[in-house]
Amino acid sequence: MNLILDMDGVLWRGEAPIGNLAEIFQEMRRRGWRFVFATNNSTRTPQEYVARLERFGVPAEPWQVVTSSQAVAEMIHREHPQIETVFAIGENGLLRALEARGLRCLPVEQAQEAQAVVVGLDRQVNFAKMSEATLLVRRGLPFYATNPDRTFPTPRGEIPGAGAWVSVIVTASDVTPRFAGKPSPYLIELALQRLGSAPQDTWVVGDRLETDVAAAQAAGCRSVLVLSGVSTRQQAERWSPPPDRVVENLAALLEEKDR
Ligand SMILES: [Mg+2]
Repeated sequence: MNLILDMDGVLWRGEAPIGNLAEIFQEMRRRGWRFVFATNNSTRTPQEYVARLERFGVPAEPWQVVTSSQAVAEMIHREHPQIETVFAIGENGLLRALEARGLRCLPVEQAQEAQAVVVGLDRQVNFAKMSEATLLVRRGLPFYATNPDRTFPTPRGEIPGAGAWVSVIVTASDVTPRFAGKPSPYLIELALQRLGSAPQDTWVVGDRLETDVAAAQAAGCRSVLVLSGVSTRQQAERWSPPPDRVVENLAALLEEKDR
């Protein structure tokens, strides 16, 4: 069995694990299930996710983590192979992913020399960064974004996500970016390449209908909604076409496949 797993709301909520993750993944490995993790969160690098997974008792390697930052870097590389410099609004995860794909990230003072604009979540965002990005997009430069998530979950509630900051530039320029993250199938397609599996033989497991399940369906994968995160069973019943499976949590997926 091939799995593409979302993390927030599937493996953990904030700092709290959902179930005994060490046991769950031990059992998956025992059964020979293969898995990669795919996240819309653009702020962390795959190595940082591996360290986090290990803290929760889940051994993983960097190739098993695909982020929206890697997806957007790949997208720019494929669609505009001549581009060498970008102005990126984002955190370490985005900047490292762009650099790994050979793209140089210019500081805000040199933004106007960039060949493309990339926006992800940036907790140091400010008026100057937003203005420079808007000027570039209005000049007609390629405009990319990691993910359209309107909010970002914190223990205190939902704060503005990448999509909320992107909307500032969209409003100011009337240009919509190319999004690499879910619900676009792009991130899932990268994850399929890592697994070396065909969409129809691969299950995407996530907690949000409008991102995880929609991306799975757009990529032609099977979809599993877990009820341990954002979306509810009632919402799943109204979703069309419905997810292939709806389970309480990741552990329940193991039980279900036993039957
Ligand atoms: Mg999630």
